[in-house]
Amino acid sequence: MNQTSPRHLSLKPIILCLLLIALAAPSFSLSTAKETYDIVIVNGRVIDPESGLDAVRNVGVSAGTIKAITSDSLNGRTVVDAKGLIVSPGFIDLHQHGQDEENYRYKVMDGVTTALELEVGTGDVDLWYALHEGKAIINYGVSVGHLAARMAAMKDPVEFLPTHEAARRAATDDEISEMKAFLERGLRRGAVAVGFGIQYVPQASHWEILEMFRVAAQFGASCHVHLRNAGLKEPASSTQALEEVIAAAAITGAPLHVVHVQSSGGKNTAKLLQMISEARSRNVDVTTECYPYIAGMTDIKSAIFNEGWQEVFGINYGDLQWAATGERLTKESFERYRKQGGMVAVFSMTEEVVETAVKNPLTMIASDGILENGKGHPRTAGTYTRILGKYVRERGALTLGDALRKMTLMPAQRLERRVPSMKNKGRLRVGSDADVVVFDPQTVIDKSTYDEPAKYAEGMKYVLVNGVLVVKNGQLQTDVHPGRAVRAPYSN
Ligand SMILES: [Zn+2]
Repeated sequence: MNQTSPRHLSLKPIILCLLLIALAAPSFSLSTAKETYDIVIVNGRVIDPESGLDAVRNVGVSAGTIKAITSDSLNGRTVVDAKGLIVSPGFIDLHQHGQDEENYRYKVMDGVTTALELEVGTGDVDLWYALHEGKAIINYGVSVGHLAARMAAMKDPVEFLPTHEAARRAATDDEISEMKAFLERGLRRGAVAVGFGIQYVPQASHWEILEMFRVAAQFGASCHVHLRNAGLKEPASSTQALEEVIAAAAITGAPLHVVHVQSSGGKNTAKLLQMISEARSRNVDVTTECYPYIAGMTDIKSAIFNEGWQEVFGINYGDLQWAATGERLTKESFERYRKQGGMVAVFSMTEEVVETAVKNPLTMIASDGILENGKGHPRTAGTYTRILGKYVRERGALTLGDALRKMTLMPAQRLERRVPSMKNKGRLRVGSDADVVVFDPQTVIDKSTYDEPAKYAEGMKYVLVNGVLVVKNGQLQTDVHPGRAVRAPYSN
């Protein structure tokens, strides 16, 4: 009874089953157990401001992209042990003037994986990108600048900030038309945004600014504006200056981004933030940013130090510090350096103002950084770690999650309408660019000071840019240049 002739068995289903197992097995092993990623970051506390993920996970990275975020174990050719460390999207700085190897090194040690020059910008978008291609540790990008457009229209020499005609006089109608064409050319070449430093060109009319916003609106480009005034008194108050550009955004439809709200706002900062919040509630597209320092920095030759600056800012000579030597100024040295030109730190804010700005849910974090031969403002090398160390850990002024949102997701979202590739930055999810920072929340801190601005921040243990380790075990890697252009779509 038990013996069955093989002839009575149909082999077909068995063969079919074996075939199915054989077909299924390789793909099963490929997609999980045997996949080897370029880099895996294991056992870190992974924080993603977009999804709200905040949990211990393993992250798999291959070919510059996040491929896996999982509780399962992962294999990698390189394994980064992130136990006890935070794993976050790399920081995006919307306001970084210094765009060279020296600056990028300090940025990356501060956790910045994308540094964009959007306030002053450039006049020649193609040349700017060509100069950085293949040479940058981190991602880079630029706006086309109204200052550059104005200097070109007035036949001034090319300067970082205008000190000739463009700084001194009103534009003719023809010059305004030339500026519009200049901005349009830059935007057609993929400029990320349009930059403004209205305080540096005080004779620019309200109509001139409106005309520039109209061009930006046509391209869906955000206008990154250093406000016309920083003063507390009417007229020429920062309140009035903010009204000017909120009105321009409402009239033209161009998105507005107010740079360093705390340095333009000073003791008015809370009022400016209230105005921005109210404008947003009326569907005006306006955002803002701040940096965590009580001093600003700018060129002593610029129009900011025109007659009456003491009253405007409520400060005096002794509140200025010459960047090259660290000396505080007097009337005599101010006048000497004003003729010469150069960077000067301006101690015009209070800790209270800075904390108000840092805590406000509307502000992104942006550095306004620039170092030249190791001289400059400590914000270049310390803005982000200072937020994490001083404002999150030491003072508890804001949560780690809120701080990271201000450094990652918010700046990415600001630009993604015009630059769709920004949808893959500022997030840690499968498919996003592998710009990742791994830092120690217990030790992360800035080390740069006004006297010694070129000191690397501490606490960034690993930093990835497009899947390449640029900081390894706290050590900067100087032989890799994985940074890519952040640029709006353009056609040749
Ligand atoms: Zn500025």
